[in-house]
Amino acid sequence: MRNKIAVIAQHADNRIDPVTYEAVSCALELCAGETSCIQIIVPGDRVEKVAQEISGETGIDTIALENELLKIYNAEAYTSALVTFFRQRAPGYILIPHTSVGYDFAPLLAIKLEASCITAVKQVNGSDGTTAFVHEVFDGRLYAEVVSKTKTTVITIQPGAWEPLGRQPGKSGIVETRNVTVNPGKTRTIAFRQSDYQGAALANSEVIVSAGRGIGKKENLSLIYEVAKLFPRSALGCSRAVCDAGWLEYSHQVGITGSTVSPKLYFAIGISGAVQHITGIKGAQVIVAVNSDPAARFFTIADYCIVEDLTQFIPTLVEEFKKKYGSFSK
Ligand SMILES: Cc1cc2nc3c(=O)[nH]c(=O)nc-3n(C[C@H](O)[C@H](O)[C@H](O)COP(=O)(O)OP(=O)(O)OC[C@H]3O[C@@H](n4cnc5c(N)ncnc54)[C@H](O)[C@@H]3O)c2cc1C
Repeated sequence: MRNKIAVIAQHADNRIDPVTYEAVSCALELCAGETSCIQIIVPGDRVEKVAQEISGETGIDTIALENELLKIYNAEAYTSALVTFFRQRAPGYILIPHTSVGYDFAPLLAIKLEASCITAVKQVNGSDGTTAFVHEVFDGRLYAEVVSKTKTTVITIQPGAWEPLGRQPGKSGIVETRNVTVNPGKTRTIAFRQSDYQGAALANSEVIVSAGRGIGKKENLSLIYEVAKLFPRSALGCSRAVCDAGWLEYSHQVGITGSTVSPKLYFAIGISGAVQHITGIKGAQVIVAVNSDPAARFFTIADYCIVEDLTQFIPTLVEEFKKKYGSFSK
């Protein structure tokens, strides 16, 4: 076990992202439940209230690290502030949620601190006094166990890998506010603008039918629509590969950089099951995967595994379903 562990909180608009509490759970595992070796850092501008809330929930000492250049997230500004802060105290581990913000600045921070960086960690293994960090490689086909050899290690924590730490009644931590120097970098974030799409269609649907690159071409989306039309309160989802190909708008993307969904029924059609996708469907009650590859990763988490060519299976499914149940017409 290393000397100190720092957890970098993730927050926006005074709201704490629950992944922060997942990273705290990982920190507690690393120090065998001993909260005194953990410190939570909240970078931002006027973030003392956020720091108080986090400390109040966890009972862990929390530092609001303030500078007006930290008001809106910017990788260079965050890194500059954290490097200044950590140079004086060099923790053993710096834990950062593996979100689009976290994995943006974590490698830069590691370079500046001459630390190693292990990303998207899902598990911690320890034996003979050695701590190994487990993460997926080769698109989730293999797990790698990585041991760090540097004094400080920057680790990004895969969302969903640890249960978020719940409220710890009766425990209290100290909250400190510190002004930190930030060297202006070459980039400046002017603003964040909310996408026009709020994710409501996917968030409110009971059934989500998602398409992956396996559909082969945009025209085959009609097959996916056919399945969605069988159910009321259904919506169309997709993998990032489908958005990148320009077959569907980003608003349909499910996964770590898309929407997080919790439908009663989730169809994954022609989707391999990369960790970035399946992280977004952790709340799905029943998962049906259709894939021509019997070794597709989706089959390891699906409730119903259909090894078929989707262009043949879907017309049969739709026909049989309509015969038996009729269809909901949109
Ligand atoms: C930082 C980062 C963030 C990311 N965020 C996301 C995210 O939010 N969401 C996301 O989805 N991805 C995300 N990705 C991408 C992710 O890693 C995968 O590359 C992506 O999910 C793959 O999409 P896919 O499964 O559709 O394509 P592929 O991996 O190419 O899989 C296609 C599947 O279709 C099957 N198939 C092919 N033909 C047929 C057929 N005729 N019938 C049936 N099956 C067939 C194949 O066997 C294969 O399993 C992210 C990646 C990174 C690095």
